[in-house]
Amino acid sequence: MTTHERKIAAAIDEAKLDKLAEVVVKVGLNLQEGQDVFLTAPVTALAFVRRIVEHAYKAGAGLVTPMLADEQMTLARFRFAHDASFDRAPGWLYEGIGKAFAANTARLAIVGDNPMLLAGEDPAKVARANKANSIAYKPALEKIAGFDINWNIAAFPGAAWAHQVFPQDEPDVAVAKLSDAIFAASRVDKADPIAAWAAHNAALRSRTQWLNGQRFAALHYTGPGTNLTIGLADGHEWEGGASVAKNGVVCNPNIPTEEVFTTPHAHRVEGTVVSTKPLSYQGTLIDRIAVRFEAGRIVEATAAHGQDVLRKVLETDDGARRLGEVALVPHSSPISASGLLFFNTLFDENAASHIALGQCYAKCFIDGDKLTPEQIAAQGGNTSLIHIDWMIGSDKIDIDGIKPDGSRVPVFRKGEWA
Ligand code: ZN
Ligand code: ZN
Repeated sequence: MTTHERKIAAAIDEAKLDKLAEVVVKVGLNLQEGQDVFLTAPVTALAFVRRIVEHAYKAGAGLVTPMLADEQMTLARFRFAHDASFDRAPGWLYEGIGKAFAANTARLAIVGDNPMLLAGEDPAKVARANKANSIAYKPALEKIAGFDINWNIAAFPGAAWAHQVFPQDEPDVAVAKLSDAIFAASRVDKADPIAAWAAHNAALRSRTQWLNGQRFAALHYTGPGTNLTIGLADGHEWEGGASVAKNGVVCNPNIPTEEVFTTPHAHRVEGTVVSTKPLSYQGTLIDRIAVRFEAGRIVEATAAHGQDVLRKVLETDDGARRLGEVALVPHSSPISASGLLFFNTLFDENAASHIALGQCYAKCFIDGDKLTPEQIAAQGGNTSLIHIDWMIGSDKIDIDGIKPDGSRVPVFRKGEWA
């Protein structure tokens, strides 16, 4: 470690980092005795990964297999790799990952690398590489999307990411501020983080129970630039906080999490909607998105910034133009209250109500684990290689629930639960 690196590492509260590692293992994954773990992380998160591995083995893990990625190596590919390589992905690796998931291996992803890493690279190459990766990863990803196993995503405050969020600050100050924001959002600043998560999960469960009892046919959003009706999938189910994977383990897939979410009907979305926060997508900031839906399909799409990237995303496949998720987050959520743009979906999607283009979650259906892909599609569930969340909530958005008989129930007023 250089002096500079040591100074940055010292900016992160070690006790809280250790608590976050424990929360990831015990609340995020709820790792079971003897269960294997496959984890991915950026090399910058090494200190965090070591703590996670320690907590995992203390919790009785079988085998923990880490795979670390390095930004310089990623950039080397985009700068020097043969053109044909951008249509390829290590299929053998994804095949192995799929086999691990099929054998009940828990999945942990640590994020925290530079959100703008690929900003200077050729967008066409980035799109090709992403597509090749998505295709190769699809069989394994379906086991995550289908919630076959317990999985979790959590974050580490990498220096490049911290600089993106706090560009005015010295590197160590930026890392200290971002780590504090992550620790607060992840509830490890509380005396007993595990108990704090139990209380938070109970609060989210009361929201999902109310929404599931209402059996809304659609949600109607109104606000500046937005007049959108999102039909909900037949037999949809609201989820949020902790939920049960098909392997029977109750886990928290996202740390932090503030959302309750369900599956929209892929063919029943009408009207216009604008984004309320920029979307950081693979190194590009897509800002002020405005789209119009007809029969569930985006027929017009513009963005004040990053429009080319948005258009490429929409061209991925037919499902990329349709919705796979609708999520409600009050404007007063702690992440929203921080006022920060994190340039990271895990955080930014928990700052505001959002929708996602692309793949739906089978879990967000009543008895979703028993439905075939054909049944899910028949009930309105969307299929795509992508799943991209973007924010449409603010303190100016009202949302009504529409019952099958057309009657309306206030759900959100000025961005808060009605
Ligand atoms: Zn979401
Ligand atoms: Zn999502």
